Amino acid sequence: MRQSHLFTKTRKSAPKDEVAKNAQLLIRGGFIHKEMAGVYSYLPLGVRVLSKIENIIREEMNAIGGQEVRMATLHPSENWKKTGGWDNVDVLFKIQSRTEKEYALGQSEEEIVTPIAQEYAASYKDLPFAIYQIGQKYRDELRAKSGIMRGREFGMKDMYSFHESQADFDRFYETVKQAYFRVYQRCGLDAKVTEASGGSFSEKLSYEFMVLTDAGEDDIVYCDCCTHCANVEVSKVAEGETCPKCGKSTLKKARAAEVGNVFDLGTKYPKSFGFTYKDKDGNDQTPIMGCYGIGTTRLMGTAVEVLADEKGIVWPETIAPFDVHLVAITGGNAELQAEADKLYEQFKENDIDVLYDDRDIRAGEKFADAELIGIPTRLVISEKTMQEGGVEVAERKSGSTTFVSESGIIEHLQK
Ligand code: ATP
Ligand code: MG
Repeated sequence: MRQSHLFTKTRKSAPKDEVAKNAQLLIRGGFIHKEMAGVYSYLPLGVRVLSKIENIIREEMNAIGGQEVRMATLHPSENWKKTGGWDNVDVLFKIQSRTEKEYALGQSEEEIVTPIAQEYAASYKDLPFAIYQIGQKYRDELRAKSGIMRGREFGMKDMYSFHESQADFDRFYETVKQAYFRVYQRCGLDAKVTEASGGSFSEKLSYEFMVLTDAGEDDIVYCDCCTHCANVEVSKVAEGETCPKCGKSTLKKARAAEVGNVFDLGTKYPKSFGFTYKDKDGNDQTPIMGCYGIGTTRLMGTAVEVLADEKGIVWPETIAPFDVHLVAITGGNAELQAEADKLYEQFKENDIDVLYDDRDIRAGEKFADAELIGIPTRLVISEKTMQEGGVEVAERKSGSTTFVSESGIIEHLQK
């Protein structure tokens, strides 16, 4: 894409009321637009990043047998009354129609997915299955000061599974945990998993996936020598104590962002809706249910927080808005301009996803924008680089540069 065609522009500063680094950088780079506290619109660059995150999640959920759906986000209040959520879920947005009918906005989808599953699972032969979606959620959060990491409207992947037995649930639970680790790793983040209580959902076991960052809202204790990790709120052991798992090290405390979690919901929701299936002997049984969330927009914000440097955002290749940022510094030289245009066309022909800075502005501005936007590889073509033998290839993360001849650049990038 030609940057001169991109309708967004970078900004020198973010809105004064925006205190979170992730949102400040994303707003300045033109990835998102702030509507009000906790509510953001996603612009072309932002949609590219979010879509890549969503596709990684989609691939991993499909790989473990998840079936994608898109459930309603405007919910009948009756379903929420059946489960007790109408009166007990403090973050639930409730809407009053002019007809006096009441609705809820989806903050999670147990109230919708359970009746759907019920419709299709009459027999043990229909189980197990897992349904997921990727979309918007709405929560009446009291505090929304973490940029896109805590929104009142935000993106989530939520999956729900239904099983005949606890053993079958446990098997799938473990499969999902492993898929989650692959998701975070592919998004360039190092996640730890905590054991925590199920909170309001159930008394059963849940796991939270945490990425260390001061921008997070959770405190965890973890061990350097093994995988032990726990939320300080629920942990029986504190910072400085010996690791209860390996005994080799003392626990450290850190701030972290919860980028996902998995819950054993037991039979709570199927019971609320009278959802039973016939077992092998023809008896009615209640299925066991699990739910599995990943905050897609929180994940995006976390990647910004963890990987950015003083110059701007540093995207991992897997979720970057473009693979390559081609910056032409022509100084009005028509021949050089033609060379840059030719390179851009060649990249497109070779399916190299490129943002081409063809704008008629100062070189310094172009470089500052490239640092802010954070595309992993920057190519500069200028009179100077031509003298050095072609195109300058700079890695955003390390800042290291090399020169590659124009004729060899495609092959270089494809490697
Ligand atoms: P938190 O404790 O941070 O409020 P939660 O326990 O309420 O999270 P869930 O209801 O299980 O979270 O939602 C699943 C995932 O959605 C979370 O792990 C998190 O990554 C993300 N998430 C939850 N609330 C928000 C929010 N307000 N804004 C952005 N992402 C969120
Ligand atoms: Mg919450």
